[in-house]
Order: sequence, then structure tokens, then C-alpha cells
Amino acid sequence: MSLQNPASTTAKPDAADAKTSNFLRQIIEHDLAAGTYAQRRWGGSPGDAAHHATGVPDPAKIRTRFPPEPNGYLHIGHAKSICLNFGLARDYGGVCHLRFDDTNPEKEDTEYVNSIIDAVKWLGFGWNGAPDAPPYQASDYFAFMYRAAEHLIDTGHAYVDEQTAEQMRLSRGDFGKPGVDSPFRARTPAENLARFREMRDGLHEDGSMVLRAKIDMAHPNINLRDPAIYRIRRATHHNTGDTWCIYPMYTFAHPIEDALEQITHSICTLEFEDQRPFYDWLLAQLCQGGLLGAPPPHQYEFARLNLTYVITSKRKLAQLVYDHKVSGWDDPRMPTIVGLRRRGYTAQSLQLFAERIGVTKSDSWIDYATLEGCLRETLDYSAPRAMAVLDPIKLVLTNWDEVMGAGMLDDCSAPVHPHHPELGQRHFKMGHEVWIERGDYEETPPKGFFRLFPGNKVRLKYGHVIECTGAIKDEAGNPSTVLARLLPDTKSGTPGSDSVKVKGVITWVGVAEATPAEVRLYDRLFTDPQPDAGGKDFIESLNPSSLKVVTAMVEPSLASAQPDQKFQFERHGYFTADRVDHVPGQRAVFNLAVGLRDGWGK
Ligand code: ATP
Ligand code: MG
Repeated sequence: MSLQNPASTTAKPDAADAKTSNFLRQIIEHDLAAGTYAQRRWGGSPGDAAHHATGVPDPAKIRTRFPPEPNGYLHIGHAKSICLNFGLARDYGGVCHLRFDDTNPEKEDTEYVNSIIDAVKWLGFGWNGAPDAPPYQASDYFAFMYRAAEHLIDTGHAYVDEQTAEQMRLSRGDFGKPGVDSPFRARTPAENLARFREMRDGLHEDGSMVLRAKIDMAHPNINLRDPAIYRIRRATHHNTGDTWCIYPMYTFAHPIEDALEQITHSICTLEFEDQRPFYDWLLAQLCQGGLLGAPPPHQYEFARLNLTYVITSKRKLAQLVYDHKVSGWDDPRMPTIVGLRRRGYTAQSLQLFAERIGVTKSDSWIDYATLEGCLRETLDYSAPRAMAVLDPIKLVLTNWDEVMGAGMLDDCSAPVHPHHPELGQRHFKMGHEVWIERGDYEETPPKGFFRLFPGNKVRLKYGHVIECTGAIKDEAGNPSTVLARLLPDTKSGTPGSDSVKVKGVITWVGVAEATPAEVRLYDRLFTDPQPDAGGKDFIESLNPSSLKVVTAMVEPSLASAQPDQKFQFERHGYFTADRVDHVPGQRAVFNLAVGLRDGWGK
């Protein structure tokens, strides 16, 4: 580790400065210039064509949405999507909707709902066009979805299929082979309607039949070979209870949710590209039938975030939690938003990251160091400085009583932040004993070592120059106390401070007022840069030393730190008072957020 802090800059890191144009911005700018959505009306809440027709010209120039399924905690990939969707709405006079995609009755949980609301708020965004507006819920649209399904049946665009799931799979064909029509495909609309109503009324078993869109069993895009749009599932839904025993499939529900909310630009990840033709087909049917307002929303795809050394799948993250590989969803090593936050990430740093990586149409991997760099920059600008000794050994100044006076404590001070003089000074005291880093003493110095060894002089940062005279050793022969003499009239900031030239400056904390603190030194959770790529078992590349806990000695000012408060521990990096375990004045617990420089693996 180098002794000096890397050069810090005075410019405030700002996500807005990192903004660059991208294909989505170009599309939106084109739509705004062409007035593509200028005629839309807004009924004040989501609804069908008739509802919006009674409304006002839409005050939102564009509408985007972030539609999580409340089945887990959000992660860094979601943060990218949130910053993208909310950021575009903000930048173009639009509104971004927060919508819970809760059409699957089995998986939702209010714990996840609340954590998602917290995460979006914490990232700095509001939703649905009004402060404190409740998020939208896809399950509120079940009645309309049902109506839309009946409309497709009436117009000959959907039918009830009673084949088994296996028969349906076999008759779908594959890339080289067209599908085969179901024997139920030729039923009349009246027959289909009667059957579908029986499904709704609970007259048939789960899985005994489905409603399918009637498109083209030979279509080159398999997603258009009569996809299932409704299934029978007897499950109690957290919002609608037992009202329904049939539920819409995601591919049917999602376009309708977007259209009811008058979304203009529906932005999703690339794996949905093949679904876009069905999205367009369905909305065209429903617009034509007058059920939905025109023009319908349009889907655009961007590359999901892949981050080295990180897993971004809720299911796999859940496995780490349930198998106790981490302490919970908010373990500071987790790439969840709650984990990143507890680690010391700020909303500003994640926004900067989202802008800096941009959006593209092709998949790639972003280096984890890019994320850390964004945090380092924002904390360099904002975090107060403090001294902490992470691996303490005692240094005794043997001539202290003669030079300074017995029992004397010498006042020292340092700027709270080198670039923000308005934040003032911090104060601490040096006495005849101070804590220093164990690694700052060597009996026999290796080449290029400028810190403490017998006969060498260093400065105690913000204090005097001292000259090392040796060390007392324990029974095993290891140094247990380092000994040195203080050089009078050399204190930092006094006229005599330059009288002795030294090559080393070391950090310290006075024994008289040091506070012990638990410091959690975190490292990457995985040793493999692509832990789950190609179906690899990510458990095998868990980093066995991703957490090391030490008892440090810290500056007295840190004892009163508030949970979540961030500091730069000089020489060491950026640390945050743990949001959960740190109790001001009682128990000091700090997490390593990020080191001073990218030194991982070096
Ligand atoms: P997971 O696979 O982790 O469960 P998901 O895509 O199923 O993720 P959703 O809750 O359905 O999670 O996603 C909400 C939104 O977040 C979607 O619009 C999705 O495209 C986006 N999203 C999810 N993961 C990423 C990622 N890694 N990068 C960018 N956007 C993402
Ligand atoms: Mg999903």
C-alpha cells in the first residue's frame, strides 16, 4: 500500500455530466419532434380508450415505466433500469411509472414490495406523476385483461385449447419445422366464449385447458405460433384474493399494462426482442377494437447489465441468502440495492455509474472497477477525512515527558476535507503513546521502505517528526511496542516543521482518546470474473476471504458518527458506519466501501 492518498479532485462528480446520447434518446427526440404521441389524452389514471378519451391532453410528454415483479430484492441491474427509465422521463418532461408486475399469483410478497419502493425512493426518484402517489399494480387490470381476451375470442383471434401441455409442446414445431394446428383451433367464437367463461367460473381443472391467441402455427417466430394467453390456476392472489382462478400469461399481460398506462416508450432487456411482434400484434388488435387508445406503446430493447465478479439474478441471489453464504439480502457483499447501500454506496454513485455505462443494443461485461470508481469519486468529493489504525501496535515516545511535559496531551488538528475549508477542522490529541499500523515498523527494512525502523525519522501526520529507536518484542520475538523519540519543534504547521526532511508520513491515533471500532473489510464475493457464465456453479467461486473483521483504533470523532455516515480513513479507503450494527457512542462498526485506488488482485 502506498502511503499517500491519490490525488483528489475538486470537481463535484455529477451524473448529469456523464450523460451521453444513446439510441433511446434519439428515438425519443425523434418522437417528440414528430409529435408521435402529441394527441394522447390522459384520464388521470390508467384505463381503457374510453377512460382516457374523457381526460385532458396528456401533460406528460413521454411515459416510461419500471415494472418489477415483487419476488425478490432489486439489484444493480435493476438500478440501471431505474436510472434509465426515470432519467429519460425526467429529462424529456415525462412521467415514469412504478408498476408492480404482480400477475403471477404465487410469488409475490409484501416484504419485496416494500423493499422495491424503498429502493426507488432511495435512488432519488418519484413515480406516477405526483409526490407520494401509490405505485400501480398490474393485478388491478385483471378485469380489463379478461375483457380483452373475450374481445380476441369474439373477433376470431383466440381459442380454448384442450390439448395437454405435452401435446402443445410437440405441435409447436421448432426453428426448422412449422407447427401443427391444434384440433381445437377451428372452434367457433361462440364455442370458445362459452368454454372460456367456464374456465373463469371454475368448472375446469388447473392445467386442463388454456386460452391461446390464434395467429399462425407456421410463423418463423415461434412466439407467434398461437401463444397461450390465459391459464387456469387456483391460487389466492395477494391483491385480488380468490376473485380469479384464471390468470393472464406475462406476454399477454405486459403489453396491456403498458397500454392502459399510456406508456409511450416501453424499455426492456434484449431477451424480450422476440416477443415484440406479439406485443405489437396484440395491441393492434385491441386498438382496432377500440378497447385501447392509439397510438399504442412501443417496445425497445437494450442490453442488460452484466458486471464482472457479480451475479444479477434474483433467483441465484436468493440461493446465497437461503444457503447462508451471506448474512442476508443486505449483506454488504451483495449486489442488491440494500446490500450496496449498507456497503457504503450512495444513490449519487449509482446514478453516475448508470450514466457512465450508458445503454447499448449488444451484450457486454462491465468491469466491477467501473462501479467502484464511481463510488470512489463521489466519496472523495464528499466524505470527511479521519484517521483510523486498522492493525494497531503501540508506539511509545520515550522522551515525551522531557520534551512535552509529563501527562501532557498535545492538540493537533486537520481539515475535515482538504477541498472544503468551510467544513472546518477536526481536533485530536497526541500523548506519549499512540497507536500506529503494525506494518509501519520493520526491524530490518526492505528496500524502499521509508517508515519506522531503527534510526529512521518519519512524521506522525499532523504532528511531530519522530526518530525510531527500536521495539520491545514479545516471547515469540515479534514487536509488541515500537519505541521512538520525538524531535522538538518539528510539529506540522509550525515554523520549525521543515527543519528536518523525512520521506515517510504515517497515520496514528492517540492512545489516550482512541476509540476501538469493529471494522469489516469486504472484498469481492466471487473470485471468478463471470461466476455464473455458461451455467457454471457460482458457489464454487465464492471468495473465502471476502470478509475480514478487525478491531481498529479510531479518531474520537468517529465514535459519534451516525449510521450510514461516510468517511475517508486516510491511507486506507472509504468507510461507512454500518446502518444496522453501528450505534453512536456505544458500538462503532465501520464497513470498507471501497479502497483509495483500484488495487484488487495486485
Ligand atoms: P431477475 O432475472 O434478476 O429476476 P428480472 O428481469 O426477472 O430479473 P424484474 O423484476 O422482472 O426482474 O425486472 C424489472 C425490470 O428490471 C425489467 O424491466 C428488467 O428488464 C430490468 N432488469 C432486470 N435485470 C436487469 C439487468 N441486469 N440489467 C438491466 N435491467 C435489468
Ligand atoms: Mg422477471
